[in-house]
Amino acid sequence: MCSLNKEQRIVRVAFDTLGCKLNQSETEALTEKFLKSGYRIVNPEEEFDIYVLNTCTVTHIADRKARHLLRMAHRRNPNAVLVAAGCYVEHAANDLLKIEGVKLAVGNKEKMRLPQLLKESGLVAADRHDFPAGYYSDNQRTRSFIRIQDGCNNFCSYCIVPYVRGREKSVSPEQVVTKIKDKVLSGFKEVVLTGTEIGSYNYDGLSLIELIGIILKETSIERLRLSSLQPQEVTPDLISLWKDEKRLCPHFHLSLQSGSDSVLKRMRRLYTTDDYASAISLIRSVAGDAGVTTDIIVGFPGETDDEYAESYDFCNKIGFARIHVFSYSKRRGTAANIMPNQISPQLKKMRSDMMLALAEESASAFYGSFIGKRLEVLWEQEANGIWNGYSANYIKVCAESDKDLTNVITEVSVKSLYGGGVWANII
Ligand code: SF4
Repeated sequence: MCSLNKEQRIVRVAFDTLGCKLNQSETEALTEKFLKSGYRIVNPEEEFDIYVLNTCTVTHIADRKARHLLRMAHRRNPNAVLVAAGCYVEHAANDLLKIEGVKLAVGNKEKMRLPQLLKESGLVAADRHDFPAGYYSDNQRTRSFIRIQDGCNNFCSYCIVPYVRGREKSVSPEQVVTKIKDKVLSGFKEVVLTGTEIGSYNYDGLSLIELIGIILKETSIERLRLSSLQPQEVTPDLISLWKDEKRLCPHFHLSLQSGSDSVLKRMRRLYTTDDYASAISLIRSVAGDAGVTTDIIVGFPGETDDEYAESYDFCNKIGFARIHVFSYSKRRGTAANIMPNQISPQLKKMRSDMMLALAEESASAFYGSFIGKRLEVLWEQEANGIWNGYSANYIKVCAESDKDLTNVITEVSVKSLYGGGVWANII
């Protein structure tokens, strides 16, 4: 039995998160649960008694990263209890439990009960005294991820998510508003609405558009950001919200996955490149400075040179602020796993390198278009006198200041490109 059982001291817990913003929001919620139960939250680089890894399994690289992080955690703190949680556990719990130090593997349904599960399993003493909520908190108080929805009904042919997250479920508007009000009281300036498929939000007939309206009316959050949408969800009614509402961040993460219609069809995506281009025009007609970011998969089964070229050209035409490039990765149980004409790793790497180079060019072009303009920045952290934070349209901004700017919003004048974003002077 673990030594934690015998001790009546504050247990130190460290968290790491892989994958999507939904996972980040869930880790955040889990952190609060641990805080409320009297644990001390520490960084994974420090000494800890418990290490929780919230895993992702979208690609085999995510799986590999999870195994690597767990092994590293064990090497750094050989006596610690390691917990693997989340999507990867859903289909590989036994493999994860074979890694040294891993004592618990909990799937998505159970992971929010982790403080109880640790007690129930005897890994932490059941009679350990609790401390008041928020007793220890080293968390940054700038941006918070709020889960409004979970699961997906779409079954894109490459995606494991519907199998590990289940069908769509939406959180009630009352719960969402209460959570955001709590975040405002704790000092957060920005919340990001997250979920697997937030565009499908539907709580007893209440849509995402109505939910956003309620949040804006009933809370005083200064910035509201959406995590990810699909092009068919970008409607005139939705985008009209951005017309007069400064609190809504003009940043749209619009998953494209491929700029080739034939590949989109094989991926079972529910839009064409024309639909995508129309969504972008609509966004830009209302929010000209909007940052549009996306995900692209290269090397999907059967992707020909021509289809790849179509995808590349389409991305080039759109001019993304950021492209997250993924090489297609087989996932057991999905339709694409058994599709013919799988692409060789070498060709995937070549296509990925080309797409990454395009991503860098497009990002520089987008960031460069703000030189000489003003942006509002929510400052997050400082290193050696240089502060960094994000503009509402999600440009990383750096500036020099000897003031404490943590969690402060200021206006800046953009001077040049700098370190994956821009350099600016604070006004
Ligand atoms: S919409 Fe498609 S890619 Fe997104 S979670 Fe659902 S199945 Fe996966």
